[in-house]
Amino acid sequence: MTVRGAGIFGLACAHACATRGARVRVIDRAGIAAGASGGVVGALAPHTPDAWNAKTAFQLVALLEAEAYWAGVDARSGISSGYARLGRLQPVADDRALSLARAREASAAGLWQGRAEWRVVRAKAGWGPVSPTGWLIHDTLSARIAPRAACHSLAGAIRDLGGEIVIGEGAEAGAVIDATGHDGLAALAADTGRPAGTGVKGQAAVFGLDRRDAPQVFADGVHIVPHADGTVAVGSTSETEFADPTATDALLDDVIARAVAYCPELAGAPVLARWAGVRPRARSRAPMLGPWPGRPGRYIANGGFKIGLAMAPACAGLLADLVLEGRDAIPEAFRVEASL
Ligand SMILES: Cc1cc2nc3c(=O)[nH]c(=O)nc-3n(C[C@H](O)[C@H](O)[C@H](O)COP(=O)(O)OP(=O)(O)OC[C@H]3O[C@@H](n4cnc5c(N)ncnc54)[C@H](O)[C@@H]3O)c2cc1C
Repeated sequence: MTVRGAGIFGLACAHACATRGARVRVIDRAGIAAGASGGVVGALAPHTPDAWNAKTAFQLVALLEAEAYWAGVDARSGISSGYARLGRLQPVADDRALSLARAREASAAGLWQGRAEWRVVRAKAGWGPVSPTGWLIHDTLSARIAPRAACHSLAGAIRDLGGEIVIGEGAEAGAVIDATGHDGLAALAADTGRPAGTGVKGQAAVFGLDRRDAPQVFADGVHIVPHADGTVAVGSTSETEFADPTATDALLDDVIARAVAYCPELAGAPVLARWAGVRPRARSRAPMLGPWPGRPGRYIANGGFKIGLAMAPACAGLLADLVLEGRDAIPEAFRVEASL
């Protein structure tokens, strides 16, 4: 079988199929992690523990399974994905937000099945966001990966399982999973004549600051994620209109300024890198999984949008069930038709 696209969705699908014994060829026209998956942020973070739906329930399973998943992939490849579940801190803006955060302590206890906590804690000196109320939300579910390294770890594991990764053009054989990111959404729209989704650009930056064992921060819409290599990534912008998909500009300067305002420890640290890429957003805003309409033997794994790194492994399991075993357990909200 063939997987087109060596981003996190394609690689996770290829890995899921290869672990079940399939002979897999991955083809990417530009390289491993050449698209959105080659980014720098890598937050694997939950939605707030309320407004429960199929997507948030599925995301919880994906987050809970991530530790064992990445340990297994890394052990096979010998490459570190940078995974660590170190939790997340968020500032609490005012009294209203404090009551809501406390109500969520109780809802998390139920919805997260005692496997992770959402707690309201006192802000302390040192690493963490400035909080106007002196209170923080600390969740123990959030984790991080280094996106590019995680893709290379998956690629190594696929090769170890006998799979092949072709950069450039290669012949398709057998069933094909199309995991070609935002370009794939455009191709699907052109093929079906219906809007399938769009690309949403994001810009992010990397600071040279070693807080590798510290929790990530989410403040004012900005993810601030310490990584194992002694850097802290911050992101991201969200742009539906853009001329250059890989250029960084003043919009990123604003994200950097907001990150420094919330985490003053970043103030003296150098900005080592600036990065931009395009997220695939399906029209439903949920992952898009299942058969390509009207093209037997062709399947779609797409629509990761802002949480694709977190969702890809669990989505890949669903698609492997369908492609290899004909077992269709894809939630309604994730079906291709939900976006067409
Ligand atoms: C700035 C930014 C920050 C983000 N932060 C996070 C985060 O913190 N947490 C999180 O979970 N998610 C995050 N995301 C989202 C996440 O990166 C994406 O959801 C995910 O990477 C999408 O993976 P993908 O494999 O579907 O697409 P991509 O990674 O874009 O991969 C598609 C691949 O297909 C290849 N391709 C395209 N067309 C063809 C073709 N015809 N033939 C062969 N190959 C082809 C491309 O070269 C590319 O390598 C972020 C995204 C951005 C841009």
